[in-house]
Amino acid sequence: MFYLQINDHLDKLAAEYPNLVTVINAALSYEGRQIKYVRISTSRFENLRKPVIIIDAAVHAREWVTTPVALYIINQLVVDIVDNQLTDEIDWIIIPLANPDGYEYSFDETRSTSHAGSGECPGVDGNRNFDHHWGTSEASSDPCSLIYEGPTAFSEPETRVIRDAVLQNVQRTALYISLHSYGNMFLYAWGNNGTLPSNGLILHLAGVQMATAIDELALDKADRYIVGNAASVLYYSTGTSRDWTRAAGIPLTYTLELPGYEYLFEVPAEYVEQIVTETWAGIVADQLIFTEQQIWSRVLMNRIFDIYYQSGNDQIKVSRIEIKLILNESDVLAYSEDGVGQSKFTASIYMPANTFAVYYNLKIFTCSAP
Ligand SMILES: [Zn+2]
Repeated sequence: MFYLQINDHLDKLAAEYPNLVTVINAALSYEGRQIKYVRISTSRFENLRKPVIIIDAAVHAREWVTTPVALYIINQLVVDIVDNQLTDEIDWIIIPLANPDGYEYSFDETRSTSHAGSGECPGVDGNRNFDHHWGTSEASSDPCSLIYEGPTAFSEPETRVIRDAVLQNVQRTALYISLHSYGNMFLYAWGNNGTLPSNGLILHLAGVQMATAIDELALDKADRYIVGNAASVLYYSTGTSRDWTRAAGIPLTYTLELPGYEYLFEVPAEYVEQIVTETWAGIVADQLIFTEQQIWSRVLMNRIFDIYYQSGNDQIKVSRIEIKLILNESDVLAYSEDGVGQSKFTASIYMPANTFAVYYNLKIFTCSAP
């Protein structure tokens, strides 16, 4: 599919589903191609209490399989409407072709980057051009490098489109995913130095949740997903959209490296359906919104523990509650129906016996984004 066909497709969807889809003609690319993205909303983006999910694809143009994944997500939300809740309760911004110049170029050449600059080495790595520790990596300062960061942060129209879409909705964006390939990884901040953001545990657990849902549908030959800090599991990187969006205040932000199997960047067309369906399952997997772990030492018989959770956002509804206790060498895993469909949960745990120590782990999930 060429870039013009993709843009046409988005315009047709907006014409056919005007109450759900809006096309934003965000900017012209460096070479003058129209960069479009869609907003999907049952409330015209006017209900400021709804969380937003933002997904971009093909920032790295040779990573072709990312665009079909983005288009499939749009299709599931708009045409097939697999689950009304996903649009009733969430607003979506999907940028299926963030770098049309590179995409068109990649049909002939393997250069992965967007275009700016001049001479022998045109092109900027869009995923080094964001303003988060930009300009601090020697490897990205060489204009001939494949990971060239550009002359300034946000020098490229392609990255400014993503920046502006994020900043317009940053208060209520719950999840940002930048689709890349390949490697089967959910990568989270901070890529520049390998330390973790303050919500590192939640970032990890929500990533595991999505990765597990994908792995359940994956081909046998695919590597299982790795979830981790980008610098720890892959390499150090500066100026990435993942780190910039986390720093901007979005709680859950990931670089998602899709499968390449043995084909690496050039996944044959017959695998596209597999990748798009499994990735969809991951993105809509119920999300962990709260977790609490404690060790209670020397619990006496007949003790009662009270548990209370209330979401700060009453639009967020609990879909599943898991309580795990390990006591006296036995595991107890319980699911509670209390609180499902509400934004708060209460329970009491009663200890029928003396124990030396109890390990307690509470997990609360929602279908409707964290
Ligand atoms: Zn990439």
